[in-house]
Amino acid sequence: MPDYDLVVIGAGPAGLTAAQYGARAALKVLVIEQLSVGGQVLLIDVLENYPGNTGQKSGFDFIMDLHNQAENFGASFLFNKVSSIEKKADCFRIVMVDGSTLTAAALIIATGAKPRLLGIPGEKEFTGKGVSYCATCDGNFFKEKKIFVIGGGDAACDEARYLSRLSSKVVLVHRKENLRAQKVLTKRTLENPNIQVRFNTVIKEIKGALAAQKVGMVVLENLAGSQVYEEQADAVFISVGTVPLSELAAIDGVEKCVELDNDGYIITNSKMETNIPGVFAAGDVRAGAFRQVVTAAGDGAIAAFNAAKYIGE
Ligand code: NAP
Repeated sequence: MPDYDLVVIGAGPAGLTAAQYGARAALKVLVIEQLSVGGQVLLIDVLENYPGNTGQKSGFDFIMDLHNQAENFGASFLFNKVSSIEKKADCFRIVMVDGSTLTAAALIIATGAKPRLLGIPGEKEFTGKGVSYCATCDGNFFKEKKIFVIGGGDAACDEARYLSRLSSKVVLVHRKENLRAQKVLTKRTLENPNIQVRFNTVIKEIKGALAAQKVGMVVLENLAGSQVYEEQADAVFISVGTVPLSELAAIDGVEKCVELDNDGYIITNSKMETNIPGVFAAGDVRAGAFRQVVTAAGDGAIAAFNAAKYIGE
């Protein structure tokens, strides 16, 4: 008998919803999370587009509720990092970085995604010293400072909006001539008096004083005029998309690994099944997902429902 019916790896909205649905289906569920519950949802200041959340609930408060809900329905939690997964005859063996192991009849990979790096000079050196990937975490250090936000998607617009409440000097830098964010977010960004949007512009370098641990300057290029210029800056918030955390798809003991798309996202069908029976994926790590909290939660519910069916059969 495996130790658990269902092991969910990752405790973001997808993983926690899967845990809740699994536990309510009377499965013995364990959620394994390497750091703390939440994932990228913790970056959300106000979760205004989650159905029914008409109040000002933050991503943090939302995820705490999801965590409590999953726990109250009987899911267990383990804070550890999975290093590998192996398929055994009738179950999966999960190995942690500390060498401990456990087994499960079915798995849901809900490991999410992490911020994409720009890879420009100064980014790595000044991370935590003025370069950040999370406005709600670090914005408070830059009240009324000159803040650059890089990116043109939903996340960049959300970050800029959050920062615009802390500073009237927010500059959103986007490489194209139109934002790709949802219409409502685009409109709000363009109309915000505290945000100046610089289209057709890329950031080439971040400069500053490493000893003083401070960003001081950004090097920008206006692509329309091929003009390179330096500008004073106190902080740079980078929000240029995400990359999937799908390393665990390399399951040992199976003929083929869990199938990934060209960008490294796990391919599933509409039941959240991967090509390996008993392995499901949900949320941002899944290919083709409309990456929203509500869809991650939906994925988690579907994955748990089908995992329960798989285990039953
Ligand atoms: P995204 O939609 O992939 O947008 C990434 C942005 O970064 C794009 O504007 C892209 O430019 C730009 N970019 C990528 N690489 C770049 C580079 N090397 N240099 C400069 N710019 C670069 O990512 P996201 O905004 O992080 O959102 C991820 C997912 O989460 C999306 O599905 C989004 O809908 C969802 N999300 C939703 C909300 C919300 O509903 N409020 C909030 C946050 C995130 P191009 O446009 O030129 O490609």
